[in-house]
Amino acid sequence: MPAEEEDCGNFEERVRKLVEAGYEAIGSEIIACTRCQLHKSAIKRVIGKGSCNPRVLFIGEAPGKNENETGIPFCGRAGKKLDKMIEYMGLTEKDWTVVNTVKCRPPENRNPKASEIDCCKPFLVAQITLLDPKIIILLGNTAEKSYCPEKKLEWGVPVEHEGRTILKLYHPAALIYTASKTETQWAFIDKNRNLWE
Ligand code: SF4
Repeated sequence: MPAEEEDCGNFEERVRKLVEAGYEAIGSEIIACTRCQLHKSAIKRVIGKGSCNPRVLFIGEAPGKNENETGIPFCGRAGKKLDKMIEYMGLTEKDWTVVNTVKCRPPENRNPKASEIDCCKPFLVAQITLLDPKIIILLGNTAEKSYCPEKKLEWGVPVEHEGRTILKLYHPAALIYTASKTETQWAFIDKNRNLWE
């Protein structure tokens, strides 16, 4: 295999095996994974955090510096914004889980490539299948591109997809860089409260 080529294997087969193996085994598989080039820049793999029986699953983008060092998703400044969002949504600890589209940090904080997202997607899909959330909240465009690239979602407008409700909201980091987005995000949340309350 050329140095830059991914070794993604058969998507359906990988998902099936991961689901059969169970949630804890997925974590072990992620830790051992070298299927794409991102494993080279990873210190820790970032598997997910939250409830094992969530009503709401948040999908973020990729681990950042703090996540790479700790193995915990959303543990830096964006994590504090996500905490505020979760509080504003009125969710308790047992209600939610957060995972990323890719489990290893891209070098120099670049966006994950489409091929890397595809390669990591069986982990994401197996996590969704086993966690079985009612609602999936896509935090930003990368999450949308990974989970449902065939859809053209509007911000804050829910759609049904494969038996679940999908809602695209701003990534918490976007609220840091563009403060005015916070008010819009809160309005999206207010408009959709019936989905999780
Ligand atoms: S990003 Fe995903 S597919 Fe790539 S090496 Fe890490 S766990 Fe494996």
